[in-house]
Amino acid sequence: MPRLFRRYACLFLLLLCLTGHAQDLARVRQTIATLSSPALHGRGYAFKGDSLAARFLQQEFAAIGLRSFTPQYLQTFTLPINILDNRLSLAVDGKALKPGVDFLAHGATGAGQGEGRVYDIDTLILQDVDVAQQFLTNNLRNKVLVVHQRHFEQLLSLPEPFQPQLRNVVGVIVRQKGPKLMGTVRSEQLPFPVLEVLEKAWPPHAKKVRFTVDARLEPAYRSQNVIGFIPGKIKPDSFVVITAHYDHLGHQGKDLYFPGAHDNASGTAMLLELARHYAQPQNTPDYSIAFMAFAGEEAGLVGSRYYTEHPLFPLGKIKFLLNLDLMSTGEEGLMVVNGSVFPKQFQLLQQLNQQHQFLPQIRSRGKAANSDHYFFSEKGVPAFFFYTLGGTTTEYHHPNDQPETLPLTKFKEVMALIGDFIKAL
Ligand SMILES: [Zn+2]
Repeated sequence: MPRLFRRYACLFLLLLCLTGHAQDLARVRQTIATLSSPALHGRGYAFKGDSLAARFLQQEFAAIGLRSFTPQYLQTFTLPINILDNRLSLAVDGKALKPGVDFLAHGATGAGQGEGRVYDIDTLILQDVDVAQQFLTNNLRNKVLVVHQRHFEQLLSLPEPFQPQLRNVVGVIVRQKGPKLMGTVRSEQLPFPVLEVLEKAWPPHAKKVRFTVDARLEPAYRSQNVIGFIPGKIKPDSFVVITAHYDHLGHQGKDLYFPGAHDNASGTAMLLELARHYAQPQNTPDYSIAFMAFAGEEAGLVGSRYYTEHPLFPLGKIKFLLNLDLMSTGEEGLMVVNGSVFPKQFQLLQQLNQQHQFLPQIRSRGKAANSDHYFFSEKGVPAFFFYTLGGTTTEYHHPNDQPETLPLTKFKEVMALIGDFIKAL
């Protein structure tokens, strides 16, 4: 009997623990689901998904009670962007391939509709200028060039005299080794359509290709950062800054969008949770804390770069900046970009983690231009970029990066670590 009781007691405690954890994370899941929903169109440029996401963040910031440097928390900027919001289709020898599964458009694809004979590019052609010349003087009209992923850049960087001939092609197919396709969004447009097809979806003796891709380059698309702050109670003119990009890849075609749950609805949700925490009167921080949700990250860190060129308070007043991107795993711990650039602060992180056993490990990297911390640290602002490690269920830059698949394994623990770090700064 006592053994049975013990067993039930254990079960009861486990359930209590699990439901407590689940309740804590329910709001986080809700935020991620909203940001990843079809209504926000992948937080990109088709159907103004970025602006709709910004509106949601403005409402959240206001409900939390954040102060604003600007009217309605907004800092607007423009960027050139290639938008794919209408037709996208591809058929090989009469068989339709599935967008997002078998193929995607290259982020910089030109627009076009056409049919053409497959022309497989031999790698030798690209390696030898004479051969290339001979090849390109052949009539490329009505041809669809097919090239392996690793030679696509070579094709694009053929010497200038060849470029006009290259423009005669109907389109280019880039064969992707896989195992998965990876979407991108780009600020330029190539003079011909480019579709990326998974190797395993490409028939071995393909002869004819038919496709349609609508793409338009907007030279000055208007996007916006969303920025708020909480004044500190002891040193209000000194700032800790939390950043996360809220934009993602948007659409490819009318129906296919990239939810971007892990990248980076997860980091945006954590930024909101931290804002909520510090907005409670009992948690008022010693330093001011600014919360910056950046746009244009996927197009080349455009929003955060704009901010560093147009700061809302002197960059020198930033005591430390923490950038959050890809926050939904953590089975294998946390990576800290700039860890080796700021060893004292990295040691502090390690020490706090050892003390509380938040994460199985904290790893360190040098500097990298891979997220929004970069232009800040280039301007001398001390900054870390955190991303979680491990987990097999999260997709990257793929239509399957969906909220349901996020484990949020160490979400609370990373937040707790950040809280302790800010306290100890
Ligand atoms: Zn990304």
